[in-house]
Order: sequence, then structure tokens, then C-alpha cells
Amino acid sequence: MSPAFSQNFKPSGSSQENSSIDPPTSLDCSTVTPYTFYGHLPYPEVPPQNLVEVGNSERLERSAAISFRQMQIAAARDGVTLVPLSGFRDRALQTELFYTIAAQRGQSLQQRARVSAPPGHSEHHTGYAIDIGDGVDSWYDFSQDFERTAAGQWLMKNAQNYGFELSFTRNHPCVSYEPWHWRWVGDADSQFVFQTARDLVPGIRSELQEIELQERSQPKIKSTHTPH
Ligand SMILES: [Zn+2]
Repeated sequence: MSPAFSQNFKPSGSSQENSSIDPPTSLDCSTVTPYTFYGHLPYPEVPPQNLVEVGNSERLERSAAISFRQMQIAAARDGVTLVPLSGFRDRALQTELFYTIAAQRGQSLQQRARVSAPPGHSEHHTGYAIDIGDGVDSWYDFSQDFERTAAGQWLMKNAQNYGFELSFTRNHPCVSYEPWHWRWVGDADSQFVFQTARDLVPGIRSELQEIELQERSQPKIKSTHTPH
């Protein structure tokens, strides 16, 4: 495990005033607890010195970046361009994306949490998550119809060979389907980060794993057009 991560990682549930509150035993999308925020788990920020650029001014944790570049090269050989749209994001940027946009759109925080993670709860903090677009069909960036693009189709078939998995599958109970958002779980450090978040909430860990297993064993169904 990465000492940098374990030192850095301070979940919101670790403060003293919250120590008497038991972790939730199931995933409740409608509440905020010291551990979860409308179904989002807490994540630490990767130390900045561990980040490297992957193009488009986006950064990922060093090992994830190497795998992403390898995946990009393999996709290019198949005629597919994978565009890094958003890699590492700090809490300040996530605060803007969550609270400022919620205010602009007149969304409640619970509504906003369906499509965006609050600061302190974004997988993008870890440096292991990346939003990917298609080099030809940029129209579908951040759209569920991204899965219909060449990049989307290629990722569904091949991303797992490079250590990437889809975070918000179609069956996720709290967060809407995001075929563009991939997290890297290709080494012990990255697995430690995501497992630690789940371990904070024992009931949620098994629930989410069950949902993801179901999703990955199901044949893919074409979505209807649902931009957001
Ligand atoms: Zn994302």
C-alpha cells in the first residue's frame, strides 16, 4: 500500500464528533452520513508529485497514466482515438463542479449527486479515474450515448485488459450510468484506495460488489438517448 495515500486519507467519518455514529449497513442514496454523501464514498487526494500528464492538460497517477497511454496506443492501432477529457481533480475544482453547477441549474444537492460527486467523494481525487471521449464523435462527450461511439465500444471490450473498469454501471443504485468514466485498478495501491473506501461502509461494500458483478455478467443493452 502507498504510505502517501494512507497518510493523506482522512475520511469525513474520522472526525471526533462523528465517532459515535455507526456506518450505514446499506447504500442509502437519499441521505448524507459521515461516510457517504447521497451514495458517494469518500476518497483521498493523490499527492501532486505522483501525477503525470496524459495529454489535453489532464493528469493521472503515474502508473495509471502508463496504462492509459498503452491503452490509447492499442486503440489507435484499431483506428480509435481515446481522448482524455478529465483526469485528476482536486477538491476545489470538484466543489465548483458540484455546488456551483447545482446552484446554476437549480438542482438540489441530492439531484446533483445523481450525476456528479461532491468534493471529498470523487474518484477523480485519487488520480486513478479518467473521463474519456471519442476523437471523432466529441458530440457524445459526457453523454450516455458515448457507449455507441467507436471509443465507447472499444473501451467496453478492451479497457479491462489495461486495468480499467467502469465505475458507474447501469445498475448503480445512486449514480447515473457513466460509460465515459473509468477507474484504474491495475496495481495494489489503486485497489487499496477503492477497497478502503468500501471498507468504511461494510454493508455497502458487498452491495456494490454484487451490483457490479451482475452488470459485468450481463450482455450490454443499447441505451436510449439520455444527454445531461
Ligand atoms: Zn468522471
